[in-house]
Amino acid sequence: MADPVVHILVVEDEEAILRLIQYNLDAAGYAVRTQMDGAAALDDIEDNPPDLLVLDWMLPEVDGIEICEYIRESETHRHIPIIMLTARGEEEDRLRGLDAGADDYMVKPFSPKELVARIGAVLRRVRPSLARQVIEAGKLHADTERGKLSLKQGEKRVAVKCGPTEFRLACQLMEHAGHVQSRSQLLDAVWQDKELGYDSRTVDVHIRRLRKALDDAAAHAGDLIETVRGLGYRLEP
Ligand code: CA
Repeated sequence: MADPVVHILVVEDEEAILRLIQYNLDAAGYAVRTQMDGAAALDDIEDNPPDLLVLDWMLPEVDGIEICEYIRESETHRHIPIIMLTARGEEEDRLRGLDAGADDYMVKPFSPKELVARIGAVLRRVRPSLARQVIEAGKLHADTERGKLSLKQGEKRVAVKCGPTEFRLACQLMEHAGHVQSRSQLLDAVWQDKELGYDSRTVDVHIRRLRKALDDAAAHAGDLIETVRGLGYRLEP
């Protein structure tokens, strides 16, 4: 599986189905978390936003449609792709799921392999850096399968020697090249485990390391990352 790791939250109240999905996503190389009711799922999403959500329609406490609507209205979580699961197959329900903001929809019973394929397709569509093997932006080139970053210099490519966190940070900036990424957006995208007390200073430290790695690869290449005062960081497109 490609590095960076893709974190998926599966919310399903039928334990047998939940375990089946967990087993198959785990085997496909994803980092999987699970929740069995809607309220716990919302807390989990707030604490640690996943890269993708697999969401059952009928859930205790808060149902799947409400969670879907909540995410799409949320300023910080609206970009999370959602695949909805349901026992219902009516056209009207299918449309209601998509209307609520789901990216794709599967009717039970479904094949776990089909779900894995749909997840791959949704990730390729909405978060290219999570599914694509190569990202290019301006002078930078990232091979996400091997975790290697390089810098174009004329016809050649020079390796940028950086750690895995700087690599993920570079991928995130590359995915949004030309646009400012705030420290909190970078923190959400690059650092999954907020309980360890990461904050915006952490972002600044790793940006410094990434700039140094770029400068080591080619003179002044660190300047490709611009500090936008009061807003965040921006990679030259
Ligand atoms: Ca259910």
